[in-house]
Amino acid sequence: MELSKDVKYIKGVGPSRVELLNKLGIFTLKDLITYYPRTYEDRSKPKSIAECVHGEEVLIEAIACGKVSDVRLQGKTMQKLLVRDETGSATITWFNQSYLKNKFEIGKSYKFFGKVTNNFGKIMMTSPVFDEDDKSFNTGKIIPLYPLTYQLSQNVLRKIIEAGLREVDGKLEETLPEYLLKGYNLEGLNEATQKIHFPAEFEDFNRARKRLVFEELLSTQLALLQLKNNYQNGDNGIVFNKNVKMSDVINKLPFRLTKAQLRVLEEIDSDMESKKSMNRLLQGDVGSGKTVVAMCAAYKAVKSGYQAAIMAPTAILATQHLENFQKILKELDISCELLISGITKKKKEELLQRLANGEIDILIGTHAIIEENVQFKNLGLVVTDEQHRFGVKQRTRIAEKGENPDVLVMTATPIPRTLALILYGDLDISIIDELPPNRKKVETFAVNKNMTERVNNFIEKQIQEGRQAYIVCPLVEENEELDLKSVEKLYESYKKEIFPKYKVEYIHGKMRPKEKDEIMEKFKKGEIDILISTTVIEVGVDVPNSNIMVIENAERFGLAQLHQLRGRVGRGEYQSYCILKYEGKSETVRERMKVMCNTNDGFVISEKDLELRGSGDFFGTMQHGLPEFKIANLFEDMPILKSVQSAAIKILQEDSKLEKRDNFLLKELVKDKFMKRIEI
Ligand code: ADP
Ligand code: MG
Repeated sequence: MELSKDVKYIKGVGPSRVELLNKLGIFTLKDLITYYPRTYEDRSKPKSIAECVHGEEVLIEAIACGKVSDVRLQGKTMQKLLVRDETGSATITWFNQSYLKNKFEIGKSYKFFGKVTNNFGKIMMTSPVFDEDDKSFNTGKIIPLYPLTYQLSQNVLRKIIEAGLREVDGKLEETLPEYLLKGYNLEGLNEATQKIHFPAEFEDFNRARKRLVFEELLSTQLALLQLKNNYQNGDNGIVFNKNVKMSDVINKLPFRLTKAQLRVLEEIDSDMESKKSMNRLLQGDVGSGKTVVAMCAAYKAVKSGYQAAIMAPTAILATQHLENFQKILKELDISCELLISGITKKKKEELLQRLANGEIDILIGTHAIIEENVQFKNLGLVVTDEQHRFGVKQRTRIAEKGENPDVLVMTATPIPRTLALILYGDLDISIIDELPPNRKKVETFAVNKNMTERVNNFIEKQIQEGRQAYIVCPLVEENEELDLKSVEKLYESYKKEIFPKYKVEYIHGKMRPKEKDEIMEKFKKGEIDILISTTVIEVGVDVPNSNIMVIENAERFGLAQLHQLRGRVGRGEYQSYCILKYEGKSETVRERMKVMCNTNDGFVISEKDLELRGSGDFFGTMQHGLPEFKIANLFEDMPILKSVQSAAIKILQEDSKLEKRDNFLLKELVKDKFMKRIEI
């Protein structure tokens, strides 16, 4: 079967339609038959006219009682047709469809599908599709509706897809091995492909979809797990010294670690002492205390005779880490240095020299660490903080600076565990699911425009008490269409009109890093009262004196992001507040705001976010590097995902390189993924 055949050879596809199909991303026969419906309309079960409910879309079978009459109405024409069944009569109307005039024969039966209105017992149906009684192209079955059609109508696209499906009917080569089809009760590819487009009943659709989703998720899982096996199979990881105790660091801390921190440290400790290289993802909500975990791991690496590298996404954050590390590790005779792009050439040269000599034990820095001229003497541990800001590529590039160093990736983006397995299938996962005791909950309020003055008064009160405030808005430049407030404009109004007495500054992602750092530094020192900002402040900066954050147009942010932002306050001894200003009245917006006000638990929030937005959006904002799925929806398909996970693990346990004959097809699927999708 030539699945790579150009769509232009499909029946009904002329040159102009080829272009439109291409716009939909459909170039080949395979693209065409895998252009899955967005939803379906059940036009298979007729109702009698008397049963029609106002506002409902229904199928009726009725007899034409007269000819179509043409009525002129302010430049439009309206076509009217009276129809009847045993239970009653209805008036059918269309607009500007003069060609319908001679379409219907009196006394003949037709099927109409459309929206019904019931006006005091007078049944009307507007602009329905229809078929002659014995035909069923537009009615009488479940009809697929495709996500986008451009200038193609649903009807035309449907016809083209039908033609494509006829060509492949019964001829597709199976892509899953027999034992999986049997074992998981999955339908064959041929049947599933036909039925996903044209199910005779919804049970058909369910079965078809299950099979296609299974295949899509399985190939991704197998690809990721193989990747993981690649770096775990070798027993050539570093074995760190068992006699180096992380408790040396823990005992120096001014607080007691939480149970969750201790558990995670045990997991890391045992990874580090084993022959396999560590590849671990550490998830923990904002403020859960990931930094000390990194510190303990770095300590173990250094005292075992290796160097450690800590990479953070911003200079501020790197500097903050350095300060925290030095406070504790200096006394333990460990040297930490900072590498960010701002340092002088001379200083940098000297630093690189000492790094290569092994005089520096821990190097903390930004992307600058990845640069080619940065050479370690013996890098044994790599930690990347807030990893959602880094791609998989950067992660691996820094690891290449050592020989199989252990890798710890830290993130505050909470992802439900099952999803983390898909997204980070190549990593082991540890979770800090507990905040240090005595944290005050950030009080969160959702307000609309009417409350602006009260909010401003509230901010002023906090500032007078010596606190500082963040005002966050979504965009840098004014986007008139969406009426979003830009940082600059907001800055003007806060500085000149609302708070002329106070020190107001702004910061955004398009500033030079040096400028940004200066402003953050001033804010940290308390030289700024109100900081207007985009989401650049999202990542881990610690300013314990700031206790209030106002988020403008909060409806524009994802919940997980709002949660991240909110984590900037509530870091000190003061009761902290987060005020979400939102616009719009939609049910979803209100529900999302409610979630934020009701919980501070990042995992609950991320589950909700996923539920309220669907997985497409959710993953879009996480810059995860994996492409979107064609048919799977990670939220709805959680049960399938679970069985896929256990299937994938079992398959690779028995045949880690997919070399068995039975797994030949799977090998092909995975090869396809690696070629197209996963960027490593
Ligand atoms: P994050 O996980 O967001 O990176 P940090 O590591 O920056 O969190 O920790 C946030 C704050 O909590 C820091 O000031 C840190 O010193 C403090 N902290 C960490 N662990 C504990 C603990 N077990 N008890 C009390 N405070 C802690
Ligand atoms: Mg952090």
